Amino acid sequence: MNKADSERLASGFEQLGLSESEDPRSADVVVLNTCVVRQGSEDRATGLLGALKKAKAKDPDRRIAVMGCMVGPKSDELSRRFPQVDAWARPQEFDPILQMAGETVGIDPDGCITELLPGDPNVATFIPIIHGCDKFCSFCIIPYRRGREVSRSVEELVHETEMLVSRGVREVTLLGQNVDSYGHDLEPVHDLADLLYAINDVEGLERIRFLTSHPSDMSEKIIRAVGELPKVCENINLPFQAGDDEVLDRMRRGYTRDQYLRKIDEIRTIIPDVVMVTDVIVGFSGETDEQFGQTLDILKQVRFDKVHSAAYSVRPGTIAARQHPDTVPVEEKKRRLAELSELQESICSEINNGLAGREFDVLIDGHSRGMLQGRTRTDKLVYLENSETFETRIGGFAKVRITGTSPWSLQGEVTAAEIPAAGDRLRVYPV
Ligand code: SF4
Repeated sequence: MNKADSERLASGFEQLGLSESEDPRSADVVVLNTCVVRQGSEDRATGLLGALKKAKAKDPDRRIAVMGCMVGPKSDELSRRFPQVDAWARPQEFDPILQMAGETVGIDPDGCITELLPGDPNVATFIPIIHGCDKFCSFCIIPYRRGREVSRSVEELVHETEMLVSRGVREVTLLGQNVDSYGHDLEPVHDLADLLYAINDVEGLERIRFLTSHPSDMSEKIIRAVGELPKVCENINLPFQAGDDEVLDRMRRGYTRDQYLRKIDEIRTIIPDVVMVTDVIVGFSGETDEQFGQTLDILKQVRFDKVHSAAYSVRPGTIAARQHPDTVPVEEKKRRLAELSELQESICSEINNGLAGREFDVLIDGHSRGMLQGRTRTDKLVYLENSETFETRIGGFAKVRITGTSPWSLQGEVTAAEIPAAGDRLRVYPV
């Protein structure tokens, strides 16, 4: 979400005639885009602000702005603590920063900035579709910092997708803290399925993903849209966070273990080849070893292709910080995290081993390890070992036969590369 916001703000700066500086200490305008989901990241942001204070003392004309979820509804207290900051802006609130930058260069942003969209976006790029969160999970600070859910209109998002496609984008990931609650606040009401149908019609776009979903908002209509729409990738991230009902209740997640598992069954019935990804917290307040075992049990039952896991840390300002003491010792959290990672690594190994010899369409999105790399529809990272023998390029598709696997990535040989055809954005492979 922050990366998408930074790209959009950078586009506004470019339109004002500013260019990127490699070193914040030599920049005329510095913007700190903050994520404070954990206390540690907020501490890093305040540390950076301390360093910038010194830089500003040397050059008082330097302008400093802070955006992102460090900035809550009121910035008075922040302004008092950090007088070196010239502008504060909540997530997606670009105007105060553009005004500040405009004053620096003597240009009125209202007259010269058109759309805040990256001019040279990655071939696979992000589009925020809903901001904020209404859920108030007990461990999470997001609703207090990012506010209540606000959806962008279907028309605006379709237009933005068309613009991005005209700049070379072929895959979009629709973003929201609770992406599947999209549209309930619109007039007339829409939902994520409606948006997926609308964006699926954008000519030239090849793939659509969405992140991150809440199990309670994942309706049958959305699941059917994923199953039916050719451009929507069969890849769903559905966090379960904990496998025990008592822990889930303390987390205020709003579903039980059984309801979560039934949702997975429903998804797999409608989309048999779906790849499931999840997020898990270990060592939440009061979690016993047995309750942690319930989390491992869900991993064994569902066999996710990817698990984002983290040890619980208290976030001041949350319900859990006030009501649920952090009872699990740090060493025990680390032990549980290691046990979970080991289990998941073996599951990922088995899943990926089963892909050897199969052929996939890969959207090439970059270089690494001296090779081109890309992603399958199911978001598997694939390294292309013989890309030089075909007309492969970043932004193009290749057919790749998998020759090697690891728990975290695949390697494969290109068997055909997309033929770029002038004026024709359809994918064409040699016969
Ligand atoms: S759903 Fe829960 S964890 Fe996710 S952003 Fe909202 S409050 Fe935080």
